[in-house]
Amino acid sequence: MTATRPALAGFAGVVPFAPERPRRFQAEVSVETLPGVGPKVTERLAALGIRTLGDLAEYVPREHLDWSKATGFGTLRVGEEATVACTVERTRVRPTRRRNLKLLEAAVTDSAGDRTTAIWFNQAWLAERLQPGTRVLIHGALAPGGTFKVERHELDGESAGLHTVGLVPVYSASETVSTARLRELTELVLPRARWALDSLPAWLRADEDLPLRADALAACHRPLERADVERARKRLAFEELLLLMTGLAQRRRELEAGAAAPALAEPGELLARLRALLPFDLTPEQEAAIRAIDLDLAGTRPMQRLLQGDVGSGKTVVALYALLRAVERGHQGALMAPTETLAEQHFLTVEGLTAKLGVRAVLLTSSLAPKAHAAARGAVAGGEADLVVGTHALIQEHVGFRSLAVAVVDEQHRFGVEQRRALGGSGGEAPHVLHMTATPIPRTLAMTVYGDLDVTEIARPPRDRVPVRTAWVAHERSGEAYTRLRRHLREGRQAYVVCPLVSESETSEARAAEVEAERLRRAELSDFRVGCLHGKLPAAERRAVMDAFKRRELDVLVATTVIEVGVDVPNATIMIVQEADRFGLAQLHQLRGRVGRGAEQSYCLLVSRPREDLTETARTRLQALVDSTDGFALAEVDLRLRGEGELLGTRQSGLPDLRFASLTRDRDLIVRAKRRTAELVDEEGPFADAVAAFFADADHRGLA
Ligand code: ADP
Ligand code: MG
Repeated sequence: MTATRPALAGFAGVVPFAPERPRRFQAEVSVETLPGVGPKVTERLAALGIRTLGDLAEYVPREHLDWSKATGFGTLRVGEEATVACTVERTRVRPTRRRNLKLLEAAVTDSAGDRTTAIWFNQAWLAERLQPGTRVLIHGALAPGGTFKVERHELDGESAGLHTVGLVPVYSASETVSTARLRELTELVLPRARWALDSLPAWLRADEDLPLRADALAACHRPLERADVERARKRLAFEELLLLMTGLAQRRRELEAGAAAPALAEPGELLARLRALLPFDLTPEQEAAIRAIDLDLAGTRPMQRLLQGDVGSGKTVVALYALLRAVERGHQGALMAPTETLAEQHFLTVEGLTAKLGVRAVLLTSSLAPKAHAAARGAVAGGEADLVVGTHALIQEHVGFRSLAVAVVDEQHRFGVEQRRALGGSGGEAPHVLHMTATPIPRTLAMTVYGDLDVTEIARPPRDRVPVRTAWVAHERSGEAYTRLRRHLREGRQAYVVCPLVSESETSEARAAEVEAERLRRAELSDFRVGCLHGKLPAAERRAVMDAFKRRELDVLVATTVIEVGVDVPNATIMIVQEADRFGLAQLHQLRGRVGRGAEQSYCLLVSRPREDLTETARTRLQALVDSTDGFALAEVDLRLRGEGELLGTRQSGLPDLRFASLTRDRDLIVRAKRRTAELVDEEGPFADAVAAFFADADHRGLA
């Protein structure tokens, strides 16, 4: 039944093509140029994202059905999935007791003469096409009653071979474009795609032993062997990663070529004083990060480094080190946080140290009173301020600096490629930039998502830290959680209570937190001093609450997720998260990082709604937090639960969408591609064009 097909380089074989005219494939030409494709079909294909011949060639099947392995009814066991080629004898449509459900039954005979009844649900319209004598391939399983429940079928029509021979592609179809139609269309375009220009340079294809792109595409659509499909996909995925990573490397290069940063010689006396001031020694990982930064700062090539480290891993002091390196040489440093609350908190931390070092730090946020705002701006422009702490608006609103040499961007995962680019400065000068994220992702992923950055990790927290113990408390036992919390308070410790997420708006979330704080003041926590913190408080009030908590004038902070990052009170040793099942994994991990900051054993109590009300994912999430405090390990779990698109925020990151590669499954390819980017970044011609085309969509999106 299988036709003999000549093997193509690298694959067992693909459908033989009969190229009439060896002409360059015009991938960008509209599908409307294909025979039988008019305006209507063009529109329907567009709905599937297929506009050009190239799109069609790249519209690879979802799966392949192996018609060549068709069996007979005689050997089937109940429940076993199978594909059977058979002939229709007669059909009838039967109503069922359920009003809207109709059954189509067909008496069918296979080639061995075995008979059975094949059943389709809700496909009565098909009866007309299943005339007696029609040959049909059915895929499904034998039901306990001996009937065959059909999941998919193929009619043996004119182009039978296309639909029924060997491994048959199944496409993601739509209501108006069937998988059979897509098969016919790809069949038309694949022979032409044989003459596509391969954008990968020949030397690379030879070095990496890569088949031609056209062969890989053909094998994806029409493989001879199942193994060909995955090998072909990997070839295409590898190319995609090369385009992505080379594009990011080019951006990095542009940035470096565009502007120079001040070279900062060796760390001197100011940094020695910082070290002396710290109540601890830096950990080896912090020292390693600092060494990497020192090397970056020594040159005029602007630093573009990402510092990844879990909450509490001690990134702040590394950031401060980098900032003071600028100050020491007469320049300025800027620390930028994603929200005003965080900026304020960073400012408190930074100021605590800089005041003792004789370094002048200012806070610059839009919630400052106009006068104070103007004064801060003036200090930054005039150089009276050595360090400025603010939000990302510092860069976006073009605050004038006298001489900005080092910029630190906290919580970089909310920052896209384009925003990073904007940090590159303008004219002849650019600051050295250190990005920090407390949502670490595996190194291989960082190579793509942060492909334009150098990456440093702080994988281990400071040594004397005791891992936070986490418990998952069922709702009906939340009383015990508060008993535990009160015990900590009586011992002189402090605590956090995180209120449930209210999705409607920040205002309703704030109100809910206030109501809850009030309730706790009257009930569970009536003996204690309870403060409330949320994003709707005026800046001054927010600061007052934080200060009071730091000075131990408050025992408990009832808060929304504004405490997620940045709050640093080592005496707080217990946290209750209400309705924890509503939060995301990374978010809970961040919240938990607010405790366990001192030498004491700390606790995080995740109170969930009743277990039986939770989804499987929510349960897995909570259990993962109980089992692990390692941010990298939790990131992997999160990746599994949510899928890479959402976790990595590919859209938000400003990166092109990937058609073939999976950033999680293809880590081997990422590593291989990374090794090649240095060579490819200077490549000209078709490869450079392909890189530009690959980023064109994403750039367009970024501008929109
Ligand atoms: P991150 O910003 O990475 O979440 P922080 O920089 O806020 O973490 O550090 C968390 C806590 O650990 C802070 O209280 C900080 O003072 C403390 N810390 C930082 N480095 C060390 C160290 N080397 N030894 C002991 N404690 C440290
Ligand atoms: Mg931090």
